[in-house]
Amino acid sequence: MIKLSKFPFKTMKSKPKVSDNISTSLLLQAWFIRQNMAWVYTYTTLWLRILRKIANIVREEMDNIGAYEILMPALSPKENWKKTWRWDSIDVFFHLPATNNKEYWLNSTHEEIVTPLMKEFINSYKDVPVCVYQIQNKFRNEKRAKSWLLRWREFLMKDAYSFNLDHKKSDEFYETMKKTYMNIFNRLWIWKDTYITLADGWTFTDKYSHEFQTILDIWEDDIYICKKCWTSHNKEIVPESGFKCVNCGSTECDVKKASEVWNIFPLETKFADAFDMKVLDKDGKEKKLIMWCYGIWISRLMWVIAEKFANENSINWPASITPADVYIIVIQEENIKKWEELAKKFEKEWKEVILDDRMWKNASFGVKAIDCELLWIKNRVVISSKTLEKWWYEFTQDGKISIVKF
Ligand SMILES: [Zn+2]
Repeated sequence: MIKLSKFPFKTMKSKPKVSDNISTSLLLQAWFIRQNMAWVYTYTTLWLRILRKIANIVREEMDNIGAYEILMPALSPKENWKKTWRWDSIDVFFHLPATNNKEYWLNSTHEEIVTPLMKEFINSYKDVPVCVYQIQNKFRNEKRAKSWLLRWREFLMKDAYSFNLDHKKSDEFYETMKKTYMNIFNRLWIWKDTYITLADGWTFTDKYSHEFQTILDIWEDDIYICKKCWTSHNKEIVPESGFKCVNCGSTECDVKKASEVWNIFPLETKFADAFDMKVLDKDGKEKKLIMWCYGIWISRLMWVIAEKFANENSINWPASITPADVYIIVIQEENIKKWEELAKKFEKEWKEVILDDRMWKNASFGVKAIDCELLWIKNRVVISSKTLEKWWYEFTQDGKISIVKF
């Protein structure tokens, strides 16, 4: 239970101005975040709680399809990255000098660690398919951290790596993962506005990579959605000569602003080649494993959701990640022990309770009601000495007030 009388973080009377979005202002006003440097924030208690709820939804859905969670280190040795040529070829990553002339990579992705790891355990065709994932902070040495949440230097990511014997099995697993991602969007209320979008193949492959783009009005990135077959295209693959759907050839499209929150890369055998990862198939023939990477930018996703559901005064959180289930407003100081007892009772019924037991001078009912709205806690309980006398409380759910007996 969060007791606001003892809680260190305080709301601000007005919204600090942030130029390019609404949600950051609200999050600053509601003590969810504090800025450390450009686009780097400390998360206080409730913002961290929301982050964990999103991470747990992702975790549950990944576990459901038989993926196994692991946690790899944030640092990795230079040698691994030399093997895949990425140490010298990619410059947006942090190389860290250490003692004894050693150098490390502050991990932005983990193919170079997960491949040698799984090589030890995948010895035969019977050991695949297999998928492992982790939820971990990642780092990119961006030349300029572009606006708001487009490019961050530090972010929380879920990255999953699948190993399959052939393309058919890889494609099947991809379909499973697509459904899993859609379940995740659904639980976060953004399913309707999220498009699987074809994009550049990045450094691994000449095929299209797949991004999951969520429509967001203030976003700088454009996606081109085919009017005929709804295939979505990242701007980067649309030629200057004009739009032509890569799926059906239609030239009619809707252009929408969107944010990339997930991506999928078919890594093919690039890493199996680099780390000499082979298994024997049923006929005793050597085969290289096909590897795919499935990412979700969990911290970015959280900001996308905040912005998507923000209005002038508050953020209408999806029910699955609400910062608390019930907000209890205490009006008078008498019988505080009794109120705490009742709050504990609520805690048993509702999982997460915020008890607004602030009794100092300026903490009027109005101030508390505004804070409850700012945090957008949909269930509000008001207890005064009067209602307590009769063992009643005032209960507000989605704007409807009722009087409830304990
Ligand atoms: Zn089309």
